[in-house]
Amino acid sequence: MTPVGEPRAVEYDALMKSLGLEPSREDGRRKKGQRAAQCGTYSGYERHRQRGEPADAACLAAKAAYRRRYYAENRERIQAQRARKAAERHPTP
Ligand SMILES: [Zn+2]
Repeated sequence: MTPVGEPRAVEYDALMKSLGLEPSREDGRRKKGQRAAQCGTYSGYERHRQRGEPADAACLAAKAAYRRRYYAENRERIQAQRARKAAERHPTP
C-alpha cells in the first residue's frame, strides 16, 4: 500500500506499459484516443461550460437546437409544470 499523498510509484507506469496499457492519468485528462466532445454538438457546449469558457457560435447553436427539440418533445409536460408553478405563486383564494 502506498501512503496517501506520496507520489505514485514509478513501477505502476512500468507495469502498465509492460501490459501494453496506457497508465491512467492522475490529472483526470482524457486518455489518448478518447476524443473531446466536438464543437457544434450539445456535448461540445457542455464541455465549454464545464471548463468555464464561453461557448462558440457552433456550440450555442447546437444547444439552442437541443433545447428546442427537448421543448418540442416535452411541450405538454413543461407547460403543465409552468401552469402549476404560476398557480403556486399566485394562489386564487
Ligand atoms: Zn465549441
